[in-house]
This record gives sequence, structure tokens and C-alpha cells, in this order.
Amino acid sequence: MLKKFIKISGSIVIITTLLIVTSLAVSAAEITPHGTARWESATATINTSNNSAKYQKIWNKAVTAWNQTGVFEFVLTSDSSAQINTSTNTSLSGSYTGMTYITTGSDGYMQSVTSELNPQTLAAYDYSTAEKVNVAEHELGHALGLLHNPNRASVMFAANRYYSIQKVDTQSVQQLYATQMDQVSMRNKKIIFRDPVNVK
Ligand SMILES: [Zn+2]
Repeated sequence: MLKKFIKISGSIVIITTLLIVTSLAVSAAEITPHGTARWESATATINTSNNSAKYQKIWNKAVTAWNQTGVFEFVLTSDSSAQINTSTNTSLSGSYTGMTYITTGSDGYMQSVTSELNPQTLAAYDYSTAEKVNVAEHELGHALGLLHNPNRASVMFAANRYYSIQKVDTQSVQQLYATQMDQVSMRNKKIIFRDPVNVK
């Protein structure tokens, strides 16, 4: 799993984060892993207006789902300077359903995030609307600081298709935002997550 994950991420930042998570996982095996990169507080502005009407609806449903958990608040805006921007990207490899790009600032906090869905792959593998929303929820999970959960019963399973946000996911968000951020290792980093398709 570790080897596979590193291959997928292809990022030294993730490896570093994963090592921290591995030690953390001993005490909290059931909870979805998180890194140390996060927003200053459990809220961020998000723009979903640069999508087709169909995909804006999917992103908005994912925003609502997260907001209903009460552990993080996404604030919708049509402002292009939103902290999180969402879009669709058909130039992603066919084996990926979504990607999230995170940049942290000089203060170590997340500075900007772009989350993308790949409509071609989602259509090619017959993802239902609800399953597309699950993938969007997964990308927003990265956008607030979550890593991949090796267990299927989590919105953060890398190839998640069937699960919405679970308790193991919200518990991780609560833990992440209650923890003192690691400002030293997270300064001016770029983190990329690529999420593989789940062939039925
Ligand atoms: Zn992912």
C-alpha cells in the first residue's frame, strides 16, 4: 500500500507527510489519515462557478455534504480569488477521476487549492451523479487537509466511488484542526493528489 501510494503521489512532500501519518495511525487506526497542511481555521472560500451547470451542481452538492457535517465550512463565492477553485479537466489521464493541487504559503498554512474532476473518465466508467458527488467530496477532503484512507469505507479511499463522508473522515478533520500546525515542514510546498478510477 505504501509503495503504491508513493507511486501515485510521486511527491516527496506526500512521503514526508505519510511518515508522520504512519506514526499517528498507531494510536488512531480507524481514523482517516491527515497531513499537517491545513487552513488557518476550519473554513475556506470556494468557487464552483467555473464549471458547466451540471458540474457546478455536483461540486455544490459536495460542498453542502461537507458543511452539513459541521466540522468544516466551505463558503461559496463566485470570486476568482477564492481560496479553493474547482473545475473540470478533460486533459487528465483517463485513469484518473479527479485531482487536487495544494499550495502552502510562507506561514505554512494552505494558500490556494485547485480541485478538478475528469468528466470523460467519470462518463466512460458510468459513474452515477451520486458517485460523481462522492468523488467531488473526496477532492474537497484533500482541499481541507485529508490524505488517503486505505479502507474502502471512507470518502478518502483513493479510488472512492461508493462512499460519502463517513465518521472516520469527520473525526480526522476535527483532529487536524485541533492540532498545532507543523509550520516548519509545510512552508511553501506544492502537494498533488491524483485519484484513480474505480472500475465497477
Ligand atoms: Zn485522493
